[in-house]
Amino acid sequence: MNSYSIIDHQYDVVVVGAGGAGLRATLGISMKGLKTACITKVFPTRSHTVAAQGGIGAALDNMGEGDNWKFHMYDTVKGSDWLGDQDAIEYMCRNAIPAVIELEHLGVPFSRTENGEIYQRSFGGHTLNHGKSIAKRACAAADRTGHAILHTLYQQSLRNKVDFFIEYFALDLIMSEKDECVGVMALCLEDSTIHRFRAHQTVLATGGYGRAYFSCTSAHTCTGDGNAMVLRAGLPLQDMEFVQFHPTGIYGSGCLITEGARGEGGYLTNSDGERFMQRYAPTANDLASRDVVSRAMTIEINEGRGFGPNGDHIMLHLEHISPDVLQQRLPGISETARIFAGSDIAKEPIPVLPTVHYNMGGIPTNCHGEVIYPSAENSDCVVHGLMAIGEAACVSVHGANRLGTNSLLDIIVFGRAVSHRIANILQPGKVHKSITKDASDRAIARLDRIRNAKGDLRAGEVRLSMQRTMQKHAAVFRSTELMDKGREKLKGVASLISNVSVNDKSLIWNTDLIDMMELDNLMSQAIVTLTSAFLRKESRGAHAHEDFPNRNDENWMKHTVMWLNGKNETTVAYREVHMHTFSDDVKVIPPVDRVY
Ligand SMILES: Cc1cc2nc3c(=O)[nH]c(=O)nc-3n(C[C@H](O)[C@H](O)[C@H](O)COP(=O)(O)OP(=O)(O)OC[C@H]3O[C@@H](n4cnc5c(N)ncnc54)[C@H](O)[C@@H]3O)c2cc1C
Repeated sequence: MNSYSIIDHQYDVVVVGAGGAGLRATLGISMKGLKTACITKVFPTRSHTVAAQGGIGAALDNMGEGDNWKFHMYDTVKGSDWLGDQDAIEYMCRNAIPAVIELEHLGVPFSRTENGEIYQRSFGGHTLNHGKSIAKRACAAADRTGHAILHTLYQQSLRNKVDFFIEYFALDLIMSEKDECVGVMALCLEDSTIHRFRAHQTVLATGGYGRAYFSCTSAHTCTGDGNAMVLRAGLPLQDMEFVQFHPTGIYGSGCLITEGARGEGGYLTNSDGERFMQRYAPTANDLASRDVVSRAMTIEINEGRGFGPNGDHIMLHLEHISPDVLQQRLPGISETARIFAGSDIAKEPIPVLPTVHYNMGGIPTNCHGEVIYPSAENSDCVVHGLMAIGEAACVSVHGANRLGTNSLLDIIVFGRAVSHRIANILQPGKVHKSITKDASDRAIARLDRIRNAKGDLRAGEVRLSMQRTMQKHAAVFRSTELMDKGREKLKGVASLISNVSVNDKSLIWNTDLIDMMELDNLMSQAIVTLTSAFLRKESRGAHAHEDFPNRNDENWMKHTVMWLNGKNETTVAYREVHMHTFSDDVKVIPPVDRVY
């Protein structure tokens, strides 16, 4: 291990990730005068946030319907199937308004209404007056909202002199003897040099882990590296069983067609030509929340009303919408549908299928973004020096199921929240405590083991087996038998990792090595996801359990918290859902059955 030389850096704050969450935090922190580094494995504007299409939710009421943040909060609690923490949800929906206006002032080129205000469209699950009618709450920049936000934040960060470490791969957290986080280890992809970043606060903004599944809408880089680093640091992940399937991934490629398409009037049909959502969700129809629409589509397919020779997909219709609206409001998906489905959306429907889209679970945090874990005495112990935001985190504002537009909102509101928190608790230029020499050894030992592993398998083969196992055994509908078989299979697949070799021994852009490290990261999250799902004996949000079809608030209104040790053994605990609010301005929303 002595053969590795290490390059040292010292910062007040290090942010890992340059997606919307990482950049919003980086920008906010650097504006407070703190020396800030942002480490990212891809160029910032290639982060998955760039692909977000439909919009960012905020009750601005620009369409003059009488919207307000309390309706937004109600919809989010209901959408979460009462697993979301109500204090965090209040914080998010309330701060949505100033956070989006700040984005506008930073220069995000939103689409405009005739009056020149930010344009807002309808999205699934967002309503007025507690479900009475559909709201227009999604602030959109055509169908390229994430693109607009990400580019603006990157430009503003450059203006504020942030130090970017681009194409650096974070390996592991550096933890002190007192279990505080004191920084992070990273590998420079260009030349394989190893870097030790010391920081008083390390902020993980590493995104989701959609790539644990075979068919997903997220980028190839969405491998949840931060989540895996947290598990290796002996800390737990929360609510990992809740994986959202988006109803409209393009059949075959998995590319997303935004829910904004249904927000603009699109609808689904089965092979009988029936608009079946009217049966499942008489009020919201095609704009019911994603879990409801995905399940309805799966039932239609399973009961023989799917399209195609295998009867395995559904059609999404946009051809009745005026060409002007398509061109103005949905230009990106017109192109996506043409390239990936060969469909001209002005003339014919698009073949679609529910596809993995979002991870509600992740690193547990409080409303300030501080990482927490439960102990016997305190269900919200704070891990000093460590924060998490964005899709990597579980605040939890999405509970068992996220509403569309609430993730762009989550990354912006909580990216902003950590910058406020850090400014309150950290003085610029504070001296770093000394750490033992071996504090960074754990990361190097793992890198060394992976780099020098000998075996006859390639990372791609094992990854495919893992992805297929997850796609089949932790899907839209789950049963005890299916998940139990999946767990056994996954155990076998995980054991193959020790038999994978990295053939490329070079130091320059070693993608073979990165593939292997990402696979190792994904595997730990796949195990925690499937085990958490297996243990939850009820149906809630995105977790539809065939043997326990009802929500069971008495026994299961609680967050799953799971640790994983080096032998792939899990330990589970549960945290109470926060059934209190952030302020006295709003009351707790009691659980009721969800009717659409
Ligand atoms: C196709 C698509 C469309 C979507 N549309 C919408 C929408 O319209 N509205 C909405 O609200 N939500 C939408 N979502 C969800 C939302 O876009 C994402 O949840 C959100 O953008 C995630 O942002 P993030 O900053 O947490 O992570 P990401 O944008 O995924 O960024 C992760 C960052 O972490 C870095 N990173 C990861 N691992 C490492 C490592 N080991 N070392 C260094 N850096 C690392 C990456 O380089 C990257 O910069 C969509 C998602 C998809 C996939």
